[in-house]
Amino acid sequence: MEVKEIECKSCLTPCGIEGIDYAINPYIGCQHSCNYCYADFMKRFTGHSGEDWGQFVDVRTNIAEVLAKELEKKKPGSVWLSSVTDCYQPLERKFQLTKGILEAFAASKNGRKFELQILTKSSLVERDFGVLKELNAEVGLTVNTLQDKCSKAIEPFASPASERIRVLKKAKKSGLKTYAFFGPVLPGITDLEALFSEMQDLDFVFVEMLNTKPTVLARMIPLMKKEFPEEFRQWNELMGNPEQYYESLKKEATRLEKQFGLKVKAVIKH
Ligand code: SF4
Repeated sequence: MEVKEIECKSCLTPCGIEGIDYAINPYIGCQHSCNYCYADFMKRFTGHSGEDWGQFVDVRTNIAEVLAKELEKKKPGSVWLSSVTDCYQPLERKFQLTKGILEAFAASKNGRKFELQILTKSSLVERDFGVLKELNAEVGLTVNTLQDKCSKAIEPFASPASERIRVLKKAKKSGLKTYAFFGPVLPGITDLEALFSEMQDLDFVFVEMLNTKPTVLARMIPLMKKEFPEEFRQWNELMGNPEQYYESLKKEATRLEKQFGLKVKAVIKH
């Protein structure tokens, strides 16, 4: 893993995702190395074309100072941390960029005019519950299985599934607006009903299908064959039919939303 400290010129970047005005990515690259990650396209734009995703991280050391200046003049809006990295990946323990960003929002007279949404796969987020509460931020963790064995195979360097669920429940109990991101739902592996049941007390959830772009399938097919040989056939059939995969996911999410009274904000298609 090559870790490089760099300086950045901007922090709040316009975000193409519906309902989100800005994204903040404190790091370029991600140590979590999830096998289904589709943020690897970032390699092209950041001078990392020849490297493997998960093998490099650029640390944008001055990002909190840049943000503090931007908050003076940028139009308030909704902000997502993070769109193409995990803002609580292990390096955050040392560099504390995400913590600095949250403190910059809290210190700015305009900071509370922005609506913050955090999404992570790391229990490190609990370190910042205090400032997240102060900012009225929405705190989300991605979960696609209740089994640590599965999360370890799919997302090898993220917190185990059981840890993420513990943190979600703690966040909710501490009064934070809390959501789970059920994604990607892997046919044959993800028990969506069990996830809804386990997390029915949260404020809302997202449900997401797997991105079936070729670079993702090139990693997922060998992984599925090796780790989940019995489920591979069912999974692979739906990968070849993304429309059917999405429609069945949408139907199931609607059914479970009613059954558990847990709001589904969106079923995300790729
Ligand atoms: S945590 Fe997100 S950005 Fe990081 S590797 Fe996993 S999917 Fe990609």
